[in-house]
Amino acid sequence: MNTAERVRRIKPSPSTAAAQRVRELKSQGHTILDLTVGEPDFDTPGHVKAAAIEAIEAGETKYTPVNGTPRLRSAIAGKLLERHGLECNDARIAVGGGAKQVIFLALMATLDEGDEVIVPAPYWVSYPDMVRANDGTPVVVDCPEADGFKLTPERLAAAITARTRWVVLNTPGNPTGSAYTPAELHALAQVLLDHPQVRVLTDEIYDEIWYREEDAPSLAAVEPRLAERVFLTNGVSKTYAMTGWRIGYGVGPADLVTAINTLQSQTSSCPSSVSQAAAAAALTGPQDFVRETVRVYRARRDATVKLINDIPGLSCTVPDGGFYLLVNCQGAIGKFTPSGSLIESDEDFARHLLDSGQVAVIHGAAYGAPGYFRISFATSTDVLTEACARIATACAGLSSAPAT
Ligand code: PMP
Repeated sequence: MNTAERVRRIKPSPSTAAAQRVRELKSQGHTILDLTVGEPDFDTPGHVKAAAIEAIEAGETKYTPVNGTPRLRSAIAGKLLERHGLECNDARIAVGGGAKQVIFLALMATLDEGDEVIVPAPYWVSYPDMVRANDGTPVVVDCPEADGFKLTPERLAAAITARTRWVVLNTPGNPTGSAYTPAELHALAQVLLDHPQVRVLTDEIYDEIWYREEDAPSLAAVEPRLAERVFLTNGVSKTYAMTGWRIGYGVGPADLVTAINTLQSQTSSCPSSVSQAAAAAALTGPQDFVRETVRVYRARRDATVKLINDIPGLSCTVPDGGFYLLVNCQGAIGKFTPSGSLIESDEDFARHLLDSGQVAVIHGAAYGAPGYFRISFATSTDVLTEACARIATACAGLSSAPAT
C-alpha cells in the first residue's frame, strides 16, 4: 500500500507500543508488573454511568451539534468560570473525541508547511508527531531537571522565530508531573506579549490530579492580555477515569474554534452523544470521586517517590500533579548487567528491568528525556511496592566492569 508521506513521517505512540509488548509477554505466561499505564486504574463514577444510560434511554443517540451539546458546553464554561474566573461563550468552545483529537485538529487548523511549534522537553509523546503529521516542524527545547523540567523565559525567547505558530505548555506535565507556578506563567507570558504571531496551547488534562494547596493555575487567567492567544485544552479522561468515553475540549480564540469545527464536521461530525451526556454529568455532578482518587494517588506518589529515592543510582523529584514519576537513571548508564551487557541508554535500562525483573516502564528518550524512565503510579500500592523492590534488585546487580 502507498501510504502518504505524512504518515511515513510519524510513528505509533511508544506508550501504545509498550502496552502491546506487555500484552505479548503476559500472553506468553510472564507475570509482568506494568508501570506503563497512562490511565486511571479506577472505574468511571456510578452517577456518570447512570447519566449515560439515561441519555440512551431518552433517545439521545443521534448526531449532536458539531461543537457539542449545549449541556456539555455549558458544563465546560461553568468549570472554567468557577476554576479560573474565565468567561467563555459558545463561539470559544470546541468539543472533540478526547483532548488528543482536539489538539490534533488545532494543529491541523493552523499549521502550514514549515511552521514551527515549540515543544518543551520532556514532552508528552504525541506532540512532535502531531506537529509533523500536520506539516509543521517541532522545535524541541530541552528543559533540564535543574529547571524543574520547565521552560524558562530565556529558553522560550531563544526558541521563537518568525515561523513560530505555537508554544505547547503541558502543566501539570506528562511525564514529569511538574507544574508552572503563577509567577512562572507570568514570566513566560511577558516574553510572548512581544511575539503576537505565537499562540499558546495549554494542555491542562491533569489539572485536577493535583497535590498542592492552591488550584493549578492557567495561563489565560494569569495573563488576561494573552487570553486571546491561548487555546486551553482539557478533558474528562484522567480526572473522572473516563479514558474510553473519548471526550475532550479546547477553549480559545473564536476563529480557531470555527476552523476546528469545520474540520470536525468533515471528519467525525461530532463526538459521541452518549459520552457527551456522561461528561456533562461528570463536570457538573458531585466531585467526591476526584477528592478520593487524588487522596489515593497522593499516598501512592509519596510511597513510590521514597522507594525510588532509596535505590542507589536512581532518583526522582516529587510531582505536583498527574500520576507519573520521571526517574533519573543516569547512575545506571555505563554499567554492566550480570549477563555482561552494557547499559548504554535509558532504553537499555528499561529493557533490563523488563528482562531481569519483569517490570515494564517507558524509557525517557520517548519523551525527549534520555537518561530517565517513566513510572505510572496509576496502579495499586502492592504492585508499586513489589515493582520498586524488583527495580532495586535489578540495580544492585549492575556492576562497573563486565563479570569475568
Ligand atoms: N495530554 C496529555 C499530556 C496526556 O497525557 C493525554 C493522555 N495520555 C492526553 C492529552 C489525551 O487525553 P484524552 O484521553 O482526552 O485524549
